[in-house]
Amino acid sequence: MNNKVLRHDTYCRICSSEKIKTVLRLEDTPLEDQFLREEYKEQKQPVYPLELALCEDCGYLHLPYIVNPEASYADYVYESSVTVGLRNHYDDYARQIVDDFKLVKDSLVVDLGSNDGSMLASFKKTGMRVLGVEPASAIATQANQNDLPTINDFFTENVVSNILQEHGKANVVTANYMYANIDDVMSFTRSVAKLLSEDGIFVIQTGYHPEQMKIKMFDYIYHEHFSYFTVRVLNNIFNLCGLELIQAINISPKGGSIRVIGQLKGGGRKVDSSVSMLIEKENKYGMHDSSVYETFAEEIQAAKNKLLVELNAIKSTGKRIVGIGGSHSTTTLTYHFELSPFMEYIVDDNSLKHGSYSPGYHLPVYPTKKLHDDMPDYVIVLAWQHGNSILNKHKEVLDKGISFILPLPELQIIDELS
Ligand SMILES: [Zn+2]
Repeated sequence: MNNKVLRHDTYCRICSSEKIKTVLRLEDTPLEDQFLREEYKEQKQPVYPLELALCEDCGYLHLPYIVNPEASYADYVYESSVTVGLRNHYDDYARQIVDDFKLVKDSLVVDLGSNDGSMLASFKKTGMRVLGVEPASAIATQANQNDLPTINDFFTENVVSNILQEHGKANVVTANYMYANIDDVMSFTRSVAKLLSEDGIFVIQTGYHPEQMKIKMFDYIYHEHFSYFTVRVLNNIFNLCGLELIQAINISPKGGSIRVIGQLKGGGRKVDSSVSMLIEKENKYGMHDSSVYETFAEEIQAAKNKLLVELNAIKSTGKRIVGIGGSHSTTTLTYHFELSPFMEYIVDDNSLKHGSYSPGYHLPVYPTKKLHDDMPDYVIVLAWQHGNSILNKHKEVLDKGISFILPLPELQIIDELS
């Protein structure tokens, strides 16, 4: 393997310990969001090891194999689209931060990984000055065109110096569903500390695997997702980077998430009891012990076996099966559960993906309306986390006789809406 593309860390990226133990090994998988354009569909895509490792000293759960981010910017890939469904959520989120921390008008809010500027737009409505940092050029341009000032770059020390010079210190720094995708999380967090004003706050929203594991959601594991945080680990990172974790809240998006808030050490606000409560809960459930993940691996294996028995039975009667949902998580699921041989094609609502081919197996991706025209017998709900909304949306084809297969958290074959 070309080691410029793949790196194997044998030490902890947080505390440098070498006591690293692999706790979950998934099937080798290509970069999960590399849906190919038509003209590249003959191109073979490499697969990479996909493992979770635990630092037995600090409890940091992470990918030990890191694919160089440049590999994911290859030109044959579809431009990733904006995460949908979070926009309404951002209005409430911004309002809550402004109210809870009594932000005055014209405070500076910097959103890291600001995407198309949805979060910035929400803060702008509340009278704040806003600034985004976004490495993907197309969406950064789009944000700027919409009057949401955005720096098209990674969040580096240079960028911090420029922001300080041109805009001053930030009263709020936000990072939504991107903190887990940062390779050098320590230097990133130190940079945030440099950017914050004395009474500034740093707000992270990220997936929370202690909740996700309860619904067997293993497919949140993919190559762009380097870290799987607990509150204990976040608290430790903040501590090492001159910050103090003052609040931690469970929130619902993406199968279970957390919002954590930090301030500079000595920032004056009291540490909320939510921090120690969540850490205690994590310790009680053994989230920093390898045995929990070994049990999790067994549950996933059992779910896979059960599904494959069902799919083989369906296939042996000559029935036709397709899949619904095309994203990072559906690629992890398809690879690890070895679903590809069963599916003729995939349908998805995202028009950017229509006409593309799935990572690795190159299953064609069509609009969901194809289900009406083609009437396959079964649809595997690859995006099973959104199972309810998918079923409601496709009630019509259910009524016409297509059955939906929910692979997780418990295998379900659905013939009609109850
Ligand atoms: Zn460690």
